Amino acid sequence: MLLTNGRIYTLDGGGAVVDTLVVREGRIAFAGRRGDVNAVTGEETIDLQGRAVLPGLVDAHGHLMYLARARLSFDARDVASEDEIARRIGERAATRPRGEWITGRNWDQNLWPGRQFPTRASLDRAAPDHPVALVRIDGHATWVNSAALAAGGIDRATRDPAGGIVARDARGEPTGLLIDTAQRLLQNVEPRPSDAQFDRAVRECIADCLAMGLTAIHEMGAELYALASYRRLIERGDFPFRNYVAVAGRSASTWDHYRQHGPETLGDGRVVIGALKLLADGALGSRGAALHDAYCDDPGNTGLVLVPGEEVERLTLEAGALGFQVCVHAIGDRANTLVLDAFERALARAPRPDHRLRVEHAQILTESDVPRFRRLGVLPSMQATHCTSDMAWAAERLGPERLRGAYAWRSLLATGVPIAGGSDFPVESPNPFHGIHAAVTRRPRTGQDPQWQPEQRMTRAEAVRSFTTWNAYASRQEADLGSLEPGKRADLVVLSDDVFTCPEERIPDIRPALTLLDGEIVFRG
Ligand SMILES: [Zn+2]
Repeated sequence: MLLTNGRIYTLDGGGAVVDTLVVREGRIAFAGRRGDVNAVTGEETIDLQGRAVLPGLVDAHGHLMYLARARLSFDARDVASEDEIARRIGERAATRPRGEWITGRNWDQNLWPGRQFPTRASLDRAAPDHPVALVRIDGHATWVNSAALAAGGIDRATRDPAGGIVARDARGEPTGLLIDTAQRLLQNVEPRPSDAQFDRAVRECIADCLAMGLTAIHEMGAELYALASYRRLIERGDFPFRNYVAVAGRSASTWDHYRQHGPETLGDGRVVIGALKLLADGALGSRGAALHDAYCDDPGNTGLVLVPGEEVERLTLEAGALGFQVCVHAIGDRANTLVLDAFERALARAPRPDHRLRVEHAQILTESDVPRFRRLGVLPSMQATHCTSDMAWAAERLGPERLRGAYAWRSLLATGVPIAGGSDFPVESPNPFHGIHAAVTRRPRTGQDPQWQPEQRMTRAEAVRSFTTWNAYASRQEADLGSLEPGKRADLVVLSDDVFTCPEERIPDIRPALTLLDGEIVFRG
């Protein structure tokens, strides 16, 4: 395949921009000027029409397993009325086999006109043949239809359980609202998603990612059931994506399996199970991030340490000896110190020259911890959109002093470390152009907010590298991925706009016109 007449950012060491690529057997065979290509006959030619081309974008921190699970469940957050929710449930039902459960969450009648609790009647009209169960935003009530009541054997004769209420109308018939412990009446009948449902959701999530320009992710904490799904899709030849997997350390069965099995590669490198993910602390939004000093807006609270430093050290040694990379979530400054200390001790006991240990988030750092990443060879893996999502309230939690080490991309880059870029989807959108925009602007996508700590911005070249070459390095895949150079995999995106030259505010709207994986077109815009 010949791709020509483009503005192709190869992101090779010298940052060459070329107009032509030749792809052979899924790999780049040539990157250069059209005039230097020998006569090409009998090959497919794609006229890029002057468009910008980047290596396939990589998200260094995403959760495909959770994205698929969220997709299987209807999200009613911010939907404006009972009728509108019912209408959307009806749309969903039309695409599902009769009898398949439809589940959802996050409805809140306080946001609707009239503020009335919903009833089964609206859901019965929309989806009479599918049991429907929708959990209220606070988890304390479930709204169901008649099919779900029947499946649970709930009728006028059902007694209220202790601590729960089956809401009833004037004639004593259940209205379709199960409150508190009454929700458990459904527990034994509401099925977990089937393999087929989960596989379909994963496949749909992959299609969405490809449509945003992602050709690869690093999944930070996958469990056995998700890996089984990826394996089934690969066996069916239906996994047009790359996933570098860190197995979930908090799932004992998953780590037990891989501790015995060792790293694993599936489907010619489409899935590489090569890392272990650990969690050192919680998150800033819920004040679970572990801080050296108390939260400014919660005196006395210094957050939560989830895995002690000795355990991080022990698992780093154990996983490293088996050939696994280790990636540890650390948000608060105390958690970051704890993880860097643990890595330092582990490396002193068992030195490894090219360990590429990672700190996921590295969100709040003390001044003295910033240079330790470079010194120890530890890679920070950061999510630029967390900065723009948190900027409204992070100062209240942290105060001005600590804020200087928060989301401190420039401070880290200045020490000479690359930053692996990601989104933490589904916490944020998987769209990598949202992340690139946040990294170069430190400003939300909408509104006219001033830039937040503009001295910490990345350049566009750095932001693009943090979604390509630096991520390939962070997963030990730089021989195959990250740049468009002869010998590497032909994973690339042809873009609607040039991310290097378009106006800053247009960056989030960039869409691929084409996405290629292993030289095959996997998305067409
Ligand atoms: Zn995460």
